[in-house]
Amino acid sequence: MKPTLLIIDDEPAIRTLLTSFLEERYDCTTACNAAEARAAFAEQYFNVVLSDIDLGGETGTELVPSIIEASPETAVVMISGNRDLDDAISSIRAGAFDYVKKPFELDFLEMAVDRALQHNQLLRSKRQYETELEHLLKKRTDQVTYLSLHDSVTGLPNSVRFRETLAREIEMGSGEDLIGVMLITIEGYRKLQETFCHATASDALKEIGRRLVECVNPRSTVARIDGEEFAVLIPGIRDRDELAEMADRALCKIREPLFIEEDEVFLTASIGMSIAPTDSNDAAKLIENASSALLNAREQGGDRTQFYKNGMNRAARRRLSIENGLRRALDRNEVRVVYQPKAECQTGKIVGMEALVRWENEEFGPISPAEFVPIAESTGAIVQIGEWVLDQAAEFGGDLADLGYDLQVSVNLSERQLRETGFGQIVMNILTENELPADKLDLEITESLLMTDREIAVKALSELRMQGINISIDDFGTGYSSLGRLKSLPLDTLKIDRTFITDVTTDPNSASLVLALVTLAHNLGLKVIAEGVETEEQLKFLKLIRCDEYQGYLLSKPIARGEFLELLRQRLPLPIGGQPASKYAGRASL
Ligand code: C2E
Ligand code: CA
Ligand code: CA
Repeated sequence: MKPTLLIIDDEPAIRTLLTSFLEERYDCTTACNAAEARAAFAEQYFNVVLSDIDLGGETGTELVPSIIEASPETAVVMISGNRDLDDAISSIRAGAFDYVKKPFELDFLEMAVDRALQHNQLLRSKRQYETELEHLLKKRTDQVTYLSLHDSVTGLPNSVRFRETLAREIEMGSGEDLIGVMLITIEGYRKLQETFCHATASDALKEIGRRLVECVNPRSTVARIDGEEFAVLIPGIRDRDELAEMADRALCKIREPLFIEEDEVFLTASIGMSIAPTDSNDAAKLIENASSALLNAREQGGDRTQFYKNGMNRAARRRLSIENGLRRALDRNEVRVVYQPKAECQTGKIVGMEALVRWENEEFGPISPAEFVPIAESTGAIVQIGEWVLDQAAEFGGDLADLGYDLQVSVNLSERQLRETGFGQIVMNILTENELPADKLDLEITESLLMTDREIAVKALSELRMQGINISIDDFGTGYSSLGRLKSLPLDTLKIDRTFITDVTTDPNSASLVLALVTLAHNLGLKVIAEGVETEEQLKFLKLIRCDEYQGYLLSKPIARGEFLELLRQRLPLPIGGQPASKYAGRASL
């Protein structure tokens, strides 16, 4: 294909001359004035324009700008009979590429047209390159925008997009309809992630995303906002009940088994909910409220839904500060251990002690372990803290043994610690370092520790027990275990929960229950210890039913090392020579 050339001249002879000269190499079109030239341009594209300046009417110089505007790469060569330099200047200013004066030599003219064509081609390829670049840039920008607003695993909107959408919905809100926000944590996902490969875990997330989309109305937005957290925005709901129903549906959907690598995997979820404008009309606040409600649902054991209530945010903020404080607690020496003695019911002799952790922080003052231990468990901080407590307790136990006191050291154990790989070895190292024999260590576990992944827990506990370590079940009676189920567990001691002991002397039901527990536990070969003994009457009853040991304020509150030693000196006097007073010491001091 030949390049196209438009020849504009008011003299027919020149048009003919130029055409016949250039048509071998160019596809030539002619025009006799500016109007015709424009019409030609409307028809087709020209690589080069060769135009006379004097067209008898609108001049070539006047025409050039409109040509360049409509077709920026077209190269224009001007011809003029006038020998004036001014012509040349004004045509170049108007946007022409070159200027040839009449009378022209044909060869010279041809060279000018060729140069113009080269210029045109250069501009064209530059333009093409720019367009490609622009296109690429746009594609990239779109990709980046998409990625910044979507989660790459599920393809669902991410938290940024979710917040934007929520803010928009609130702004557009009619005032009559409510907007619901759900925050959803998938429980069990972390374990699934640890058990299966990355791709499988991603598939599970996608499936959960799909199920959530099925549960809500088409106007809703389902987003994945963090690891195992989803968020749903539901505009146009009538009342709380409608949102509650959707949340229940979502909960059921998530409970349905996932089929992974021929395994059935069961997940649960907790859902926190807030509603605009009832709870707030601010997107960030609504999310915070739903998040507090979610936390509350999880604290109640999970696998449930919870609406936001006043005061939840305060609780959530406190919890967050505790989480942060816990991370630095050990480094800042804010943690210590106190010891509560255990004694034989029949003789009153102190035979052991339970190590109980204490945390005192600048901001909060002393915080009960009942509050911070569950939080440390959920963040994993308990692993480090628990190991430290174990080490402290073993050290104290070792020191007491050196002094001649033969006591068993009890330490509370959290599920997270037990699941830590190499936990058994950590325990054995601590015992060796502190020269405490394994049979002097007692680990107190709760029933809930055995609820999830019973097999793994049982295996880990059996290994510890094989080393000679004593295993106790703590708070017995508050959980789900039946005595029958205890049979299959690697246990030595059963600790009856304080709540049963409290009213053992006032409530016949409690009394008969404790009696039954002691008898059945003995039949299973377990030692029984009662916790929370506060009165002489309670102790008397426990003696009567042959409970083995007791612990509680009657004997002593949890106390620091120094006080504990003092107590031992009073109750277990060592005979001259350093040997413990053994057998009769406790009875004598009763
Ligand atoms: P727990 O293991 O059931 O500990 C017994 C709790 O009852 C202790 O509360 C103790 O101070 C209290 N107590 C003892 N005797 C009496 C009594 O006669 N009357 C009353 N009303 N209470 C009594 P504390 O020290 O606040 O510990 C609370 C819980 O925190 C513990 O319950 C245990 O589950 C957990 N915990 C404490 N230290 C640790 C630790 O080092 N590691 C782990 N994992 N948990 C710990
Ligand atoms: Ca305990
Ligand atoms: Ca207990």
